[in-house]
Amino acid sequence: MSNNITLQLDANHSVTFGETVGRARGLEQIEMGAGRVRVDDKRIINCHADLNQLVPFKYTWAWKKYLDACANHWMPNEINMSADIALWKSPDGLTEDERMVIKRNLGFFSTADSLVANNLVLAVYRHITNPECRQYLLRQAFEEALHTHAYQHVIESLGMDEAEVFNMYREVPSVARKALWSLPYTQSLCDPHFHTGTTIDNRRLLRDLIAFYVVFEGIFFYVGFTQILSMGRRNKMTGTAEQFQYILRDESMHMNFGIDVINQIKIENPDVWTTEFKQEAIQMIRDGVDMEYQYALDTMPRGILGMNAEMCKEYLQFIANRRCVQIGLPQQYPGAANPFPWMSEIMDLKKEKNFFETRVTEYQTGGTLEWDE
Ligand code: FE
Repeated sequence: MSNNITLQLDANHSVTFGETVGRARGLEQIEMGAGRVRVDDKRIINCHADLNQLVPFKYTWAWKKYLDACANHWMPNEINMSADIALWKSPDGLTEDERMVIKRNLGFFSTADSLVANNLVLAVYRHITNPECRQYLLRQAFEEALHTHAYQHVIESLGMDEAEVFNMYREVPSVARKALWSLPYTQSLCDPHFHTGTTIDNRRLLRDLIAFYVVFEGIFFYVGFTQILSMGRRNKMTGTAEQFQYILRDESMHMNFGIDVINQIKIENPDVWTTEFKQEAIQMIRDGVDMEYQYALDTMPRGILGMNAEMCKEYLQFIANRRCVQIGLPQQYPGAANPFPWMSEIMDLKKEKNFFETRVTEYQTGGTLEWDE
């Protein structure tokens, strides 16, 4: 069977997509009369069954996360930013340290979520050969767009210098360091000639998944989230904090999905998970903690908002221990405790109704209501 796909544009012109598209799973020719997809045919990577058939489900956890994500739908412009605008513009509303924390975080996040989205769409999606997981990835990609929209909305509402904020990931070392660290992982997978299938290439994909889901979304986001949410708890920048609260809820689901995918790839491809690679994954997580601690020092040279860089360091170690356990690695920071127990409450919004007393936060979209039949 040829892998080429030819599109006839008009009587005289046609375009033929060759090997690259043919191997972009899901775009192969549709074979009439080929066998139906059975559950046992499905695999997270290197699956040869038809990828356009969502059911029968094999990975019900992926479908469930897709449904949960849809139930959490929100839009950045639904959140009232008027108190933030008044506070930001008031000459003595915020300290210089607080203003820097807000700016740096918007600087990091405004481009970080685009990096994640580009990694998903241009690198990861092509190599995940399972329709249930792809369904979630499509939803996640939209959520990354929403998050970038949310930061843009805050930046515009506060009247910040957009060029300054959006260029921080090139110009501010502690922000740039995190973005630069992640780039090599996604770049190799974006190569159109890269395909999974061998142990080495399967491991390359797994490495990218650990880099983005466990380190980037699972560690690099946490100092910034904690700083902004701590501000909200003190009744400052409550609209921005509420945006971050919704983003954090989405992000914790992204990370849990990524961890499920990582673990399932390990089960289906045990040859990738060698002692040497485990050591590499541990080092990636440890490097992530160090870089995020540097970010905490850079954004908080002095303690503010009831927190300081040393508390953040312990929090990062506590989180890193959890990340290690989640993907089957030994804890790296024995005894690290959580100095911000309120963060875990925020992550589960159901426990925190009216956290910032601006609205009922436990809202869901109409599409998930139950109807009498
Ligand atoms: Fe995300």
